[in-house]
Parts: sequence; structure tokens; C-alpha cells
Amino acid sequence: MRKQIYPRAVLDLGHLRENVKMVTGRCAAMGIQVMGVVKGCDGLPRCASQFVRGGCSSLGSSRIGQLADLRAAGISLPLWLIRIPMLSDAEEVVQVADGSLNSDLAVLRALDQAARAQGKTHQVLLMTDLGDLREGFWGVKELTEAALMVERDCPGLHLTGIGTNLGCYGSVLATREKMEELCAQAKEVEAAIGRPLEVVSGGATSSYMRVLDGTMPEGVNQLRIGEGILMARDLPDLHGVDMGPMHRDAITLEAEVVEVREKPTYPQGAITVDAFGHRQAYEDRGIRCHAVLAVGKVDYGDPGELFPEASGVRVLGASSDHTLLDIQDALDQGQEIRVGDILRFRLTYAAAVYVTSSRDVGHYYVDQG
Ligand SMILES: *Cc1c(COP(=O)(O)O)cnc(C)c1O
Repeated sequence: MRKQIYPRAVLDLGHLRENVKMVTGRCAAMGIQVMGVVKGCDGLPRCASQFVRGGCSSLGSSRIGQLADLRAAGISLPLWLIRIPMLSDAEEVVQVADGSLNSDLAVLRALDQAARAQGKTHQVLLMTDLGDLREGFWGVKELTEAALMVERDCPGLHLTGIGTNLGCYGSVLATREKMEELCAQAKEVEAAIGRPLEVVSGGATSSYMRVLDGTMPEGVNQLRIGEGILMARDLPDLHGVDMGPMHRDAITLEAEVVEVREKPTYPQGAITVDAFGHRQAYEDRGIRCHAVLAVGKVDYGDPGELFPEASGVRVLGASSDHTLLDIQDALDQGQEIRVGDILRFRLTYAAAVYVTSSRDVGHYYVDQG
């Protein structure tokens, strides 16, 4: 096998660990435990270990395969499947995960059966949909009935608590009111089953806002956080929220320059559609120096989600395997960029998901800490 060096994802374990500590610290001050969500870095065990060392109380992923890898790597924290399980997956879910998020009675019964067959107790959080319209029981009556079923009829399951998800499909903001609604539903479930719930899980990074501004109601005692730890980009960039001194370079992409040449900025010839069948707009900025990188959409998704660390470098676009840069400003500033040089990019969460899981992108670990 070819010893492949570039492109590579640079995983800064020290910066990642510091981000985890920052978030778990802020949450702990408000009585909130953090489930570290590792699907954004393909569940890489060396990254997941930083979530453990940084003080998370459990780990979560949407993919069973990632949880199985963490188990095999000897990760000691409880592992949670955070995508509601497939009915066809029940046995494997119980085998691999300590708990799962759930919203369907038939799946809960299948998990119960699998758990009893395997001589295990599988933990469940029941998801309640507060309006974002992805997973979850609809209304407190349906939620309470499900809780009663788990409590009374499913000896293989333990009802650990309830949870919700906001800001995913429906773009609904995690306001204090929504968090209070979740707490009120938890109280109703507790009244129905006659005992307190251990976990009230208030959502993902988008709910961490309420920790940062101090408006999270007391009843919420868990958040499931991925993006806010791995990238620390959405809250500041999309919501104007100050996250404090978080690192935004825990996961970056390095790629190699394979062509440098002065070319026109406006394509020459009859313009139709690009490699992906899309009509693109091109701005005529005269002759500029371009660089081509040996990395493309297949590796990271959308070129608009790469942010060059070098100043004066602009991402123009990409096809499957090539990325086109305008480097004229960098050259004008006196930088040299030549074939064989390596350029580094910060990433959005989505791009990080792709680069860490692409077969053709290597993994390079650094630990400054
Ligand atoms: C992905 C996911 C999370 C974590 O979301 P971030 O925005 O990355 O913090 C939490 N809960 C569920 C159910 C998820 O699918």
C-alpha cells in the first residue's frame, strides 16, 4: 500500500482536550454533565480519549460502528447511540451501546427483548419533540405513555431520562422557554412513574448557548455536545455568541499544491454547467495567479467550508478531486507558493466530518499540551 501523506486531517489532541475542558467546566458550574458527541471526527478513538480526559461523563455517536471501535479501544465511559435505533439493529445496539435515544414503541420493545436475551439492562432516553420536527414523541401525553410502558413492561430497559433536540431540521432556537418546557415534561413523567429521572438532556451545541448566558433552567442536567467542542464555530459565527478562548483548529486539513499558474479568472468558451451539473457564476478579475490542490469535494464536501490559514489565499471552487485557489494576493504580499507546498485550512463541522472519514485523507495527530 502506498504511504499516503497528503491530503491529511491534522488532529490537534491538546487543543481538542482544552476545548473539552472548557465546555465541561462551564457546564459543571451549572450542574450539567456533558455527553461528548464524537461523530464529527468519525469517532476516532484518539480524539474520543480527549473527551474522556476533558471530563465528559459519557460519549455519544450516531453510528454503531464508531461506538464499536471505541469499545474495542477500551474507552471506559458509557457509550450512547444518539441516532434513534433502527428496528433491524436492536440486537447490535444492545451489544455495543450502554444506552440509546428513542422515540418508537416497537423499537423500545425490540431493545427490551434483545437486552433480556443478552442478560443486559439497556438504558434509554425518551426523546420529546419540542417543535424542531426531527425525532421525538409528540406531546407530553404520548411521552408519558411511552415512559410508563418502559417502566412497567420492559424489564430489559432502564428509563434513564428524557431528552430533546433543537436546531436540527426545524432550525428552532433553544430558548429558555423551550428548556423550561422540557423540564415541565420531565416533571410530568416523574409524577407518572413515581420516581425522579436521572437525566434531562437539553440538546446539543445549540443549547449550550443557554449555559453561556446563564439562562439554562435548573432541571436540565445533561447536554450532548459535538460541534461546540470540535470546531467552536457555529455559536460565534451563526449566533454571535462568545464561547471564550476556544480553539478553532482542533481539526484542520492539509493539502498539497499540484499546479501554480497565471490564468484568466473568467472561463473561455461557451459556459454550461460544472462537474456537478451546477451553473456557476464567475467574476472576471483579469489575469491572476491560481493554484490547484490535490484534494476535492469527495474529500471535504463544499469548498466554501474551507478557510485558508495563509492570508491572501481565496478558495475559488472545486471538482471531485481538485480545489482551485486564487493566490495572487498572497504573492503580492511577498509569500511564495509553489508546487509541492502544503496549505492548511480550517473547516466547518460538515467538512471535518468528511475529511476525518474519507479513505483518501490521512490522519496526523499532534498534541501541544
Ligand atoms: C449530532 C447530535 C448531537 C450533537 O450535536 P452538535 O450540534 O454537534 O453538538 C446531539 N444529539 C443528537 C441526537 C445528535 O444527533
